[in-house]
Amino acid sequence: MEDANTTTEPAVSAEALDEADSRREEAEDILQGGPRSANRSGALAFLALAVVVAAVLHFYLSSGGGVYLARLDAELLNHAELSLAAMEADGPLWPSRPRDPSASTNTCAATSSSTAPWWPAPPISGAWPPAPGPDATPSSSTTNSPPKWRNSAPDWTRPASPASKRPRPVPMTRKDCNLAPYSRVLLKVSGEALGGDAGVGFDKAAIQMVAGEIRDLASAGIETVVVVGAGNFVRGSEAAALGIERGTVDYMGMTATILNALALQSAVEALGYSTRVLSAIKADQVVEPYIRRRAQRHMEKGRVVILAGGTGNPYCTTDTAAAQRSIELDCKAILKATKVDGIYTADPMKNPNAMKYERISYSQAIREKLKIMDSTAFSLCEENHIPIVVYSLKVPGNTLKAATGAVVGTLVDGE
Ligand code: UDP
Repeated sequence: MEDANTTTEPAVSAEALDEADSRREEAEDILQGGPRSANRSGALAFLALAVVVAAVLHFYLSSGGGVYLARLDAELLNHAELSLAAMEADGPLWPSRPRDPSASTNTCAATSSSTAPWWPAPPISGAWPPAPGPDATPSSSTTNSPPKWRNSAPDWTRPASPASKRPRPVPMTRKDCNLAPYSRVLLKVSGEALGGDAGVGFDKAAIQMVAGEIRDLASAGIETVVVVGAGNFVRGSEAAALGIERGTVDYMGMTATILNALALQSAVEALGYSTRVLSAIKADQVVEPYIRRRAQRHMEKGRVVILAGGTGNPYCTTDTAAAQRSIELDCKAILKATKVDGIYTADPMKNPNAMKYERISYSQAIREKLKIMDSTAFSLCEENHIPIVVYSLKVPGNTLKAATGAVVGTLVDGE
């Protein structure tokens, strides 16, 4: 029966078998060729994407934005160029850029580490990438072959950005700060502030202006300690120029703070507020000696306490005295009244491109040797968590703003 069934099946023609074979071969070709085509087109799409991303980043950076992305931009361009060069069978398109020798210890690496500070690194000044060193100069063989897709030789330096497009030095804002008013503040007034525009000797309008700022604090119920300097008369740093021994000039400076304290006392009391002057160096006929508990008692009675004599020790400044007294008198902040409206990357009087910090950490202020206060004062404040507000005394009302947590000047705090 089986033989009978087999013999009854219709015969398959040779043409049909040939056609089936050729169709199977076509299908195998398609199956084998398909993935290869996909690989090729995928690679091309990836390369095109990389080139577009690199071009966008390059445009963004060359227009002044994102200093921090500059190295990433360079790396992407580098990779894109190398990849394109590898795709070219007849050799590279253009020599790869010289590597930044400091790339392994650059800012990006530093900020991504777990020990990175919570504020961003300061702006990178000057052009980046740096000008290539002697070993980074393209070789003569490569400089002779012009680039295929650039009209000019590559420029290793970043073009200068317009000032308006420069990145802010510290993007961090103060919106996360504690904006509650400080219950007790220490106001540091430099001697220069009492000397008017010249910053020398006494200026009636300047003294009255400072007195008005102190009145604002007192009338707002903020307990106020004032530390006065003596830069309008003499500073220890001028010893050599004066031809007087440093220690002596320091005592002259401390004595001069008593003059300033008495001038301020008169001006504040003329506005109807009670004050006491306490001095770290003895002058019993005119001022009380500085005694911590006595100073606290005066404040509890609603008196403004004016401190003279600095720390009482030579080789110090009244900034250090301000930091030290703010700690022992439990002040919640130091208000540092200056001629400028905050801390800048450089002296704004000398450098018009200097940028203002809205907020800065103590350690950054120390590291960058910012001249607004001496490093001893910054260190004391850092260790004892005393925030410092640096602001301009030229704008009436700024002191009360600083004391009530409004965004004015530059805030120094943090780790
Ligand atoms: N001074 C000092 N010990 C102190 C405070 C001040 O020897 O604890 C001297 C020092 O010579 C200083 C001068 O007093 O230069 C005036 O103080 P400062 O320079 O701080 O005045 P400011 O710049 O605030 O006007």
